[in-house]
Amino acid sequence: AFDVLVVGGGPAGAAAAIYAARKGIRTGVAAERFGGQVLDTMGIENFISVDYTEGPKLGAALEQHVHAYDVDVMNLQRATKLVPASESASGLVEVQLENGASLSAKTVILSTGARWRQMGVPGENEYRNKGVAYCPHCDGPLFKGKRVAVIGGGNSGVEAAIDLAGIVAHVTLVEFDSKLRADEVLQRKLRSLPNVDIIVSAQSTEVLGDGQKVNGLVYKDRTDGVMHSVELEGIFVQIGLLPNTEWLKGALELSPRGEIVINDRGQTSLPGVFAAGDATTVPYKQIVIAMGAGSTAALAAFDHLIRTSAP
Ligand code: FAD
Repeated sequence: AFDVLVVGGGPAGAAAAIYAARKGIRTGVAAERFGGQVLDTMGIENFISVDYTEGPKLGAALEQHVHAYDVDVMNLQRATKLVPASESASGLVEVQLENGASLSAKTVILSTGARWRQMGVPGENEYRNKGVAYCPHCDGPLFKGKRVAVIGGGNSGVEAAIDLAGIVAHVTLVEFDSKLRADEVLQRKLRSLPNVDIIVSAQSTEVLGDGQKVNGLVYKDRTDGVMHSVELEGIFVQIGLLPNTEWLKGALELSPRGEIVINDRGQTSLPGVFAAGDATTVPYKQIVIAMGAGSTAALAAFDHLIRTSAP
C-alpha cells in the first residue's frame, strides 16, 4: 500500500507527489494524462520566475521532476471509484481504476483538475489557442489593444469582460439568455465601461477565422432568428469550469458546482483524503495556485500520517 497516493498528474498532483516523496514515504501517482490542462496550453507568461514557457514544455518538466524521486507513476490510468477507509476491507483508502485494478493507500490526494465547458460550435476547436481562449488571467494580455468577445453573462463572464475591458480595445459580451445572470454589482460596473457592448438573447453559432487566427464570431439573435457577425481577434469562452469529480459523487463532500470541499490544509470531508487544485473549492484556478495547493495537501497528508500511523 502507498503512504500517499495522488490521483491526477497536473501541476497540483505533480507538486503533491514531489512534496510527499521528499518525506521519504511510499508515494504513487495515478493519472489519466500526466501534465493535465497544461498540455493544452500554448504560451504561459505567469509561471512566476519564468518569463515565458509553453504548455508541453512545462508538462514534460513536471514529469521529469516527479521522476527524479522514487515515485511510482501510473500514467494513462483513470480512477473510477473512491472507497473510504471506513468502508474498505483493508482499512485503507481504496482507489479503483478503470482497468479493474484497485490501489490502496493510507492517505490519498485528489487532484483531478477541471475542464472548461466548450461552446461546441464550428471553429472553436480549430482556433483554440489561435484566438479562442478560456482563461482571461492567462491570455488577456495577448489581446492588448485588440477586439474580443466574452461568451457568457454569469459571474465569470462578466468578471472576465470587466478585466479584459482594461486591457483590450473593445469587448462584446454575448449572453444566450435574455438577461445577464451575474451579480448586480458586477453588471453595474460592466455597464459603466465605455468600450463594452452587451448582447443578450444571442446564440453563438460559429467561430470564424482566416485559417491561422480568429477574425470573427457569428451569433443568432434568438428573438428574430437573424444571424449577425462581429469582427474581432479573440473569443473568451466563460460558460463554466467543470471539475473532474463525477467519479467522487457520494464518496465525499462536493460543493453545488461539484468541487471537492477542502479546508485551508487541503483536508476533505473524509479522514486521510486530501485534495488540491482546480478540482477543489480553491478560489482562482491557476498553475501556481494548483502547485501551492498540491504542496499544502502533501504536507497535510504527511502530518496526518505521523499522527495516525504506527511507527
Ligand atoms: P489539471 O491540470 O486539470 O490536471 C488534472 C490531472 O488529473 C490530469 O493529469 C488528468 O489527466 C487527471 N485526471 C482527471 N480525471 C482523472 C481520473 N478520474 N483519474 C485519474 N486521473 C484523472 N494557468 C496559468 O496559471 N497560466 C496560464 O497561462 C494558463 N493557461 C491555460 C490555458 C488553457 C487552454 C487551459 C485549459 C488552462 C490554462 N491555465 C493556465 C489553467 C491551468 O492549466 C490550471 O489551473 C492547472 O493546470 C490546474 O492544475 P490541476 O493539477 O489542478 O489540474
